[in-house]
Amino acid sequence: MLSFLLSLAFGLGHIDTDNLPVDRVMRVVQEVKTQLVQELPQAPSVVIMERAEPTPLGAISYLSGRCVIFINPNPQAWAQWGRFLKSDNQAQWDQILAASAAHEMGHCMRENREFVAQVQLQDPQLRGFSGTGLSAARAEVVLKQELFADTVALAYANRYLGEQGASVMQWLIETREKYDQNDPTHATGRWLRTLDLGKLTGDSTQPLSKAVLQTLKAMPTNQG
Ligand SMILES: [Zn+2]
Repeated sequence: MLSFLLSLAFGLGHIDTDNLPVDRVMRVVQEVKTQLVQELPQAPSVVIMERAEPTPLGAISYLSGRCVIFINPNPQAWAQWGRFLKSDNQAQWDQILAASAAHEMGHCMRENREFVAQVQLQDPQLRGFSGTGLSAARAEVVLKQELFADTVALAYANRYLGEQGASVMQWLIETREKYDQNDPTHATGRWLRTLDLGKLTGDSTQPLSKAVLQTLKAMPTNQG
């Protein structure tokens, strides 16, 4: 199963492997893996894998609990970092990369499947989605997987990014809202807005994946 944080060719920036070396991304992903590994059914493998798809970072999550995080240095994919990494937020690039890595780890969590199975979302944007090659039911599954992964990124930012956490959380929600129109299956922004962030960030002794699941289950499930 593939999932993409950056699935659309849109708003290309000027990022290449000179201004953002693959090693830098690998270092951040490895650090996030160390921080979140106890949240995962198995330690994920992190690999550099040239792929045709336009996402520079992704997760392949298997039913067995195995998970592969891939870093895709294909230049068209790498340029997609430019949607997030700009000259005016250069001081936060590592934090943004870390939140992106946390998002991918969120696809590897068992609780992601629980959320998909247990919660129904009423989202008018998903109705009438048929005809695009993806059934409305499948679109809802993808949206829920993305919403879970984004909520993991928010919880991660709060817990691990220190005083930058709050601004990275805000940035993530705003960025998602900005791109909401691009793809209904990745339009998590307006859902993230409804989360009770206090519930998400309140108890730091609780496993992050549990806090994410509880927060999402407490969210209003109707946007229609
Ligand atoms: Zn994703």
